[in-house]
Amino acid sequence: MELHISFLLLMGFIYALAILNLIPGVNFQAALLITLLFVTVVLHELGHSYLAQKYGIRIERIILLPIGGVSSMEDLPKEPGQELRISLAGPMVNFVIAFICYLLLLLLKGSYLGVSSFLSYFILVNLILGGFNLLPAYPMDGGRVLRAILAGRMSYIRATELAAGIGKYLAIIMAIVGIFYNFFLVFIALFIYIGAEQEYQAIMISNYLGGILVENIMSHEVKTVKPDDHVNDVLQTMYQERHMGYPVTDHEEIVGIVTFDDLSRLKKENLETPIKNFMTKELIFTSPQEPVTTALEKLNQHRVGRLPVIENGQLVGIISRTDIMRALEIRKT
Ligand code: ZN
Repeated sequence: MELHISFLLLMGFIYALAILNLIPGVNFQAALLITLLFVTVVLHELGHSYLAQKYGIRIERIILLPIGGVSSMEDLPKEPGQELRISLAGPMVNFVIAFICYLLLLLLKGSYLGVSSFLSYFILVNLILGGFNLLPAYPMDGGRVLRAILAGRMSYIRATELAAGIGKYLAIIMAIVGIFYNFFLVFIALFIYIGAEQEYQAIMISNYLGGILVENIMSHEVKTVKPDDHVNDVLQTMYQERHMGYPVTDHEEIVGIVTFDDLSRLKKENLETPIKNFMTKELIFTSPQEPVTTALEKLNQHRVGRLPVIENGQLVGIISRTDIMRALEIRKT
Protein backbone atom coordinates (compact mmCIF):
# COMPACT_ATOMS: atom_id res chain seq x y z
CA MET A 1 0.00 0.00 0.00
CA GLU A 2 1.21 3.44 -0.88
CA LEU A 3 0.06 6.75 0.48
CA HIS A 4 -0.58 9.29 -2.27
CA ILE A 5 1.26 12.57 -1.80
CA SER A 6 -2.00 14.56 -1.66
CA PHE A 7 -3.23 12.47 1.27
CA LEU A 8 0.09 12.82 3.04
CA LEU A 9 0.05 16.61 2.55
CA LEU A 10 -3.53 16.89 3.76
CA MET A 11 -2.78 14.80 6.85
CA GLY A 12 0.42 16.73 7.56
CA PHE A 13 -1.38 20.05 7.14
CA ILE A 14 -4.17 19.10 9.53
CA TYR A 15 -1.83 17.58 12.13
CA ALA A 16 0.31 20.72 11.98
CA LEU A 17 -2.80 22.86 12.56
CA ALA A 18 -3.76 20.68 15.51
CA ILE A 19 -0.30 20.76 17.09
CA LEU A 20 0.12 24.51 16.62
CA ASN A 21 -3.33 24.85 18.13
CA LEU A 22 -4.35 27.84 16.03
CA ILE A 23 -8.07 27.33 16.59
CA PRO A 24 -8.44 25.58 19.99
CA GLY A 25 -10.80 22.61 20.16
CA VAL A 26 -11.65 22.45 16.48
CA ASN A 27 -8.17 21.26 15.59
CA PHE A 28 -8.32 18.19 17.75
CA GLN A 29 -11.50 17.22 15.95
CA ALA A 30 -9.92 17.84 12.56
CA ALA A 31 -6.94 15.65 13.45
CA LEU A 32 -9.27 12.94 14.67
CA LEU A 33 -11.35 13.18 11.48
CA ILE A 34 -8.37 12.90 9.15
CA THR A 35 -7.06 9.91 11.10
CA LEU A 36 -10.47 8.25 10.90
CA LEU A 37 -10.62 9.01 7.19
CA PHE A 38 -7.27 7.30 6.76
CA VAL A 39 -8.41 4.19 8.64
CA THR A 40 -11.66 4.15 6.67
CA VAL A 41 -9.91 4.39 3.31
CA VAL A 42 -7.58 1.52 4.28
CA LEU A 43 -10.51 -0.69 5.34
CA HIS A 44 -12.40 0.21 2.16
CA GLU A 45 -9.43 -0.83 0.02
CA LEU A 46 -8.97 -4.05 1.99
CA GLY A 47 -12.59 -4.86 1.06
CA HIS A 48 -11.76 -4.58 -2.65
CA SER A 49 -8.52 -6.52 -2.43
CA TYR A 50 -10.00 -9.29 -0.28
CA LEU A 51 -12.60 -10.09 -2.91
CA ALA A 52 -10.17 -9.63 -5.81
CA GLN A 53 -7.81 -12.14 -4.24
CA LYS A 54 -10.67 -14.53 -3.71
CA TYR A 55 -11.22 -14.46 -7.47
CA GLY A 56 -7.53 -15.08 -7.99
CA ILE A 57 -6.71 -11.57 -9.21
CA ARG A 58 -3.43 -10.29 -7.85
CA ILE A 59 -3.33 -6.72 -6.65
CA GLU A 60 -0.05 -5.11 -7.63
CA ARG A 61 -0.31 -2.09 -5.41
CA ILE A 62 -2.84 0.16 -3.77
CA ILE A 63 -2.49 3.92 -3.75
CA LEU A 64 -4.42 5.65 -0.98
CA LEU A 65 -6.13 8.91 -1.92
CA PRO A 66 -8.24 11.11 0.36
CA ILE A 67 -11.33 10.04 -1.63
CA GLY A 68 -10.61 6.33 -1.55
CA GLY A 69 -7.95 4.28 -3.20
CA VAL A 70 -6.78 3.11 -6.54
CA SER A 71 -5.87 -0.55 -6.77
CA SER A 72 -3.84 -1.60 -9.77
CA MET A 73 -4.76 -5.14 -10.50
CA GLU A 74 -2.30 -7.25 -12.41
CA ASP A 75 -4.87 -8.35 -14.93
CA LEU A 76 -8.37 -7.17 -15.50
CA PRO A 77 -11.20 -9.23 -14.09
CA LYS A 78 -12.24 -11.67 -16.80
CA GLU A 79 -15.92 -11.49 -16.02
CA PRO A 80 -17.92 -8.28 -15.64
CA GLY A 81 -19.76 -9.96 -12.75
CA GLN A 82 -16.53 -10.29 -10.79
CA GLU A 83 -15.61 -6.69 -11.38
CA LEU A 84 -19.05 -5.64 -10.24
CA ARG A 85 -18.68 -7.47 -6.93
CA ILE A 86 -15.07 -6.34 -6.39
CA SER A 87 -16.14 -2.71 -6.96
CA LEU A 88 -19.06 -2.98 -4.57
CA ALA A 89 -16.96 -4.65 -1.84
CA GLY A 90 -15.23 -1.38 -0.79
CA PRO A 91 -18.39 0.68 -0.15
CA MET A 92 -20.03 -2.36 1.45
CA VAL A 93 -17.22 -2.54 4.04
CA ASN A 94 -17.94 1.11 4.89
CA PHE A 95 -21.66 0.52 5.25
CA VAL A 96 -21.13 -2.55 7.44
CA ILE A 97 -18.71 -0.62 9.70
CA ALA A 98 -21.19 2.27 9.93
CA PHE A 99 -23.95 -0.17 10.86
CA ILE A 100 -21.87 -1.91 13.56
CA CYS A 101 -20.84 1.45 15.03
CA TYR A 102 -24.48 2.52 15.01
CA LEU A 103 -25.44 -0.60 17.00
CA LEU A 104 -22.63 0.13 19.48
CA LEU A 105 -23.85 3.71 19.76
CA LEU A 106 -27.34 2.45 20.62
CA LEU A 107 -25.85 0.11 23.25
CA LEU A 108 -23.99 2.99 24.89
CA LYS A 109 -27.21 5.01 25.19
CA GLY A 110 -25.43 8.31 25.57
CA SER A 111 -23.02 7.24 28.32
CA TYR A 112 -19.23 7.59 27.70
CA LEU A 113 -19.60 10.86 25.77
CA GLY A 114 -16.08 10.70 24.33
CA VAL A 115 -16.59 7.22 22.88
CA SER A 116 -20.03 8.17 21.57
CA SER A 117 -18.79 11.20 19.66
CA PHE A 118 -15.88 9.15 18.31
CA LEU A 119 -18.37 6.54 17.05
CA SER A 120 -20.60 9.20 15.50
CA TYR A 121 -17.65 10.64 13.59
CA PHE A 122 -16.62 7.20 12.42
CA ILE A 123 -20.15 6.47 11.18
CA LEU A 124 -20.24 9.79 9.35
CA VAL A 125 -16.87 9.28 7.64
CA ASN A 126 -17.81 5.73 6.57
CA LEU A 127 -21.21 6.77 5.20
CA ILE A 128 -19.72 9.67 3.24
CA LEU A 129 -16.85 7.64 1.82
CA GLY A 130 -19.05 4.64 0.97
CA GLY A 131 -21.81 6.76 -0.56
CA PHE A 132 -19.48 9.03 -2.45
CA ASN A 133 -17.65 6.11 -4.03
CA LEU A 134 -20.92 4.78 -5.41
CA LEU A 135 -21.34 7.83 -7.67
CA PRO A 136 -21.28 6.48 -11.24
CA ALA A 137 -18.19 8.55 -12.04
CA TYR A 138 -15.52 6.25 -13.43
CA PRO A 139 -12.85 5.51 -12.06
CA MET A 140 -14.74 5.64 -8.76
CA ASP A 141 -16.34 2.38 -7.65
CA GLY A 142 -19.80 3.33 -8.91
CA GLY A 143 -18.29 4.06 -12.33
CA ARG A 144 -16.67 0.62 -12.33
CA VAL A 145 -20.02 -0.92 -11.52
CA LEU A 146 -21.47 1.01 -14.45
CA ARG A 147 -18.71 -0.28 -16.72
CA ALA A 148 -19.30 -3.86 -15.58
CA ILE A 149 -23.01 -3.50 -16.44
CA LEU A 150 -22.20 -1.94 -19.83
CA ALA A 151 -19.58 -4.61 -20.54
CA GLY A 152 -22.34 -7.22 -20.52
CA ARG A 153 -23.76 -5.56 -23.62
CA MET A 154 -20.71 -4.36 -25.56
CA SER A 155 -16.95 -4.77 -25.79
CA TYR A 156 -14.87 -4.03 -22.71
CA ILE A 157 -13.08 -1.17 -24.47
CA ARG A 158 -16.32 0.47 -25.61
CA ALA A 159 -17.77 0.07 -22.10
CA THR A 160 -14.69 1.72 -20.58
CA GLU A 161 -14.85 4.54 -23.12
CA LEU A 162 -18.48 5.21 -22.27
CA ALA A 163 -17.99 4.97 -18.48
CA ALA A 164 -14.91 7.22 -18.65
CA GLY A 165 -16.88 9.73 -20.75
CA ILE A 166 -19.70 9.82 -18.20
CA GLY A 167 -17.09 10.09 -15.41
CA LYS A 168 -15.56 13.14 -17.06
CA TYR A 169 -18.94 14.87 -17.50
CA LEU A 170 -19.80 14.23 -13.85
CA ALA A 171 -16.38 15.56 -12.84
CA ILE A 172 -17.03 18.80 -14.73
CA ILE A 173 -20.44 19.20 -13.08
CA MET A 174 -18.88 18.41 -9.69
CA ALA A 175 -16.19 21.05 -10.22
CA ILE A 176 -18.77 23.71 -11.11
CA VAL A 177 -20.86 22.87 -8.05
CA GLY A 178 -17.66 22.83 -5.98
CA ILE A 179 -16.67 26.35 -6.99
CA PHE A 180 -19.89 27.66 -5.41
CA TYR A 181 -20.27 25.33 -2.43
CA ASN A 182 -17.18 23.47 -1.35
CA PHE A 183 -13.72 23.75 -2.79
CA PHE A 184 -12.87 20.20 -1.76
CA LEU A 185 -15.25 19.02 -4.51
CA VAL A 186 -13.15 20.76 -7.16
CA PHE A 187 -10.14 18.84 -5.93
CA ILE A 188 -12.03 15.52 -6.12
CA ALA A 189 -13.39 16.39 -9.57
CA LEU A 190 -9.86 16.89 -10.79
CA PHE A 191 -8.88 13.44 -9.53
CA ILE A 192 -11.84 11.86 -11.27
CA TYR A 193 -11.23 13.65 -14.56
CA ILE A 194 -7.54 12.78 -14.71
CA GLY A 195 -8.19 9.25 -13.42
CA ALA A 196 -10.86 8.58 -16.05
CA GLU A 197 -8.54 9.68 -18.83
CA GLN A 198 -5.51 7.76 -17.52
CA GLU A 199 -7.34 4.51 -16.94
CA TYR A 200 -9.04 4.68 -20.31
CA GLN A 201 -5.68 5.22 -21.99
CA ALA A 202 -4.13 2.33 -20.06
CA ILE A 203 -6.92 -0.06 -21.04
CA MET A 204 -6.88 1.08 -24.65
CA ILE A 205 -3.12 0.59 -24.81
CA SER A 206 -3.20 -2.88 -23.27
CA ASN A 207 -6.03 -3.83 -25.63
CA TYR A 208 -4.37 -2.65 -28.83
CA LEU A 209 -0.85 -3.66 -27.90
CA GLY A 210 -1.80 -7.05 -26.48
CA GLY A 211 0.16 -9.86 -28.12
CA ILE A 212 2.87 -7.63 -29.63
CA LEU A 213 6.41 -8.45 -28.52
CA VAL A 214 9.37 -6.10 -28.24
CA GLU A 215 11.14 -7.84 -31.16
CA ASN A 216 8.21 -7.01 -33.47
CA ILE A 217 8.68 -3.27 -33.24
CA MET A 218 12.19 -2.58 -31.87
CA SER A 219 14.86 -0.90 -33.95
CA HIS A 220 17.66 -3.34 -34.74
CA GLU A 221 20.21 -0.75 -35.67
CA VAL A 222 21.56 0.73 -32.50
CA LYS A 223 24.06 3.51 -32.42
CA THR A 224 26.27 3.12 -29.36
CA VAL A 225 29.00 5.15 -27.73
CA LYS A 226 32.13 4.03 -25.88
CA PRO A 227 32.83 4.60 -22.18
CA ASP A 228 35.96 6.60 -23.01
CA ASP A 229 34.24 8.95 -25.48
CA HIS A 230 34.37 12.55 -24.30
CA VAL A 231 31.30 14.35 -23.03
CA ASN A 232 31.75 17.05 -25.66
CA ASP A 233 31.74 14.62 -28.59
CA VAL A 234 28.75 12.63 -27.36
CA LEU A 235 26.77 15.85 -26.82
CA GLN A 236 27.67 16.85 -30.38
CA THR A 237 26.37 13.51 -31.66
CA MET A 238 23.14 13.98 -29.71
CA TYR A 239 22.57 17.42 -31.23
CA GLN A 240 23.32 16.13 -34.73
CA GLU A 241 21.23 12.98 -34.61
CA ARG A 242 18.55 14.36 -32.32
CA HIS A 243 18.69 11.26 -30.15
CA MET A 244 18.41 11.81 -26.42
CA GLY A 245 20.11 8.64 -25.20
CA TYR A 246 22.68 6.04 -26.23
CA PRO A 247 23.70 2.68 -24.82
CA VAL A 248 27.35 2.61 -23.79
CA THR A 249 29.17 -0.54 -24.94
CA ASP A 250 32.61 -1.85 -24.19
CA HIS A 251 33.73 -4.69 -26.51
CA GLU A 252 30.13 -5.52 -27.51
CA GLU A 253 29.06 -5.68 -23.89
CA ILE A 254 26.61 -3.07 -22.64
CA VAL A 255 27.96 -1.24 -19.59
CA GLY A 256 25.57 1.66 -19.17
CA ILE A 257 23.33 4.20 -20.82
CA VAL A 258 23.97 7.90 -21.28
CA THR A 259 21.27 10.49 -21.82
CA PHE A 260 21.13 14.14 -22.75
CA ASP A 261 19.97 14.85 -19.20
CA ASP A 262 23.10 13.22 -17.74
CA LEU A 263 25.43 15.35 -19.85
CA SER A 264 23.74 18.66 -20.54
CA ARG A 265 23.95 19.91 -16.95
CA LEU A 266 27.69 19.28 -16.60
CA LYS A 267 30.11 22.12 -15.93
CA LYS A 268 32.65 23.29 -18.51
CA GLU A 269 35.62 21.54 -16.89
CA ASN A 270 33.92 18.16 -17.37
CA LEU A 271 33.40 18.51 -21.11
CA GLU A 272 36.74 16.94 -21.98
CA THR A 273 36.38 13.98 -19.62
CA PRO A 274 35.09 10.46 -20.52
CA ILE A 275 31.33 9.84 -20.31
CA LYS A 276 31.81 6.74 -18.16
CA ASN A 277 31.94 9.07 -15.14
CA PHE A 278 28.43 10.36 -15.81
CA MET A 279 26.56 7.50 -17.47
CA THR A 280 23.81 5.57 -15.71
CA LYS A 281 25.23 2.19 -14.78
CA GLU A 282 22.04 0.80 -13.35
CA LEU A 283 20.52 -0.70 -16.45
CA ILE A 284 16.83 -0.95 -17.10
CA PHE A 285 16.38 -3.13 -20.12
CA THR A 286 13.96 -5.37 -21.93
CA SER A 287 14.29 -8.57 -23.94
CA PRO A 288 13.04 -9.42 -27.46
CA GLN A 289 10.38 -11.81 -26.13
CA GLU A 290 8.94 -9.39 -23.59
CA PRO A 291 5.41 -8.04 -24.31
CA VAL A 292 5.41 -4.42 -25.46
CA THR A 293 2.98 -3.52 -22.67
CA THR A 294 5.58 -4.61 -20.08
CA ALA A 295 8.26 -2.56 -21.83
CA LEU A 296 5.93 0.45 -21.78
CA GLU A 297 5.36 -0.02 -18.05
CA LYS A 298 9.12 0.01 -17.49
CA LEU A 299 9.46 3.20 -19.54
CA ASN A 300 6.75 4.88 -17.49
CA GLN A 301 7.92 3.61 -14.13
CA HIS A 302 11.50 4.73 -14.59
CA ARG A 303 10.60 7.83 -16.59
CA VAL A 304 12.93 7.03 -19.46
CA GLY A 305 12.41 7.44 -23.17
CA ARG A 306 14.05 4.27 -24.48
CA LEU A 307 15.12 0.83 -23.35
CA PRO A 308 18.01 -1.26 -24.63
CA VAL A 309 16.91 -4.72 -25.78
CA ILE A 310 19.27 -7.36 -24.46
CA GLU A 311 19.46 -11.06 -25.28
CA ASN A 312 22.09 -13.34 -23.70
CA GLY A 313 24.04 -10.32 -22.49
CA GLN A 314 24.22 -8.89 -26.02
CA LEU A 315 22.62 -5.67 -27.15
CA VAL A 316 20.29 -6.61 -30.00
CA GLY A 317 18.15 -3.52 -30.39
CA ILE A 318 16.48 -0.54 -28.81
CA ILE A 319 12.84 0.31 -28.24
CA SER A 320 11.56 3.83 -27.63
CA ARG A 321 8.30 5.35 -26.52
CA THR A 322 7.91 6.69 -30.06
CA ASP A 323 8.20 3.15 -31.50
CA ILE A 324 5.42 1.98 -29.18
CA MET A 325 3.13 4.93 -29.91
CA ARG A 326 3.62 4.39 -33.64
CA ALA A 327 2.62 0.74 -33.27
CA LEU A 328 -0.44 1.84 -31.31
CA GLU A 329 -1.50 4.27 -34.05
CA ILE A 330 -1.18 1.54 -36.70
CA ARG A 331 -3.20 -0.95 -34.63
CA LYS A 332 -5.96 1.56 -33.97
CA THR A 333 -6.66 2.21 -37.64
ZN1 ZN B 1 -13.33 1.75 -3.73
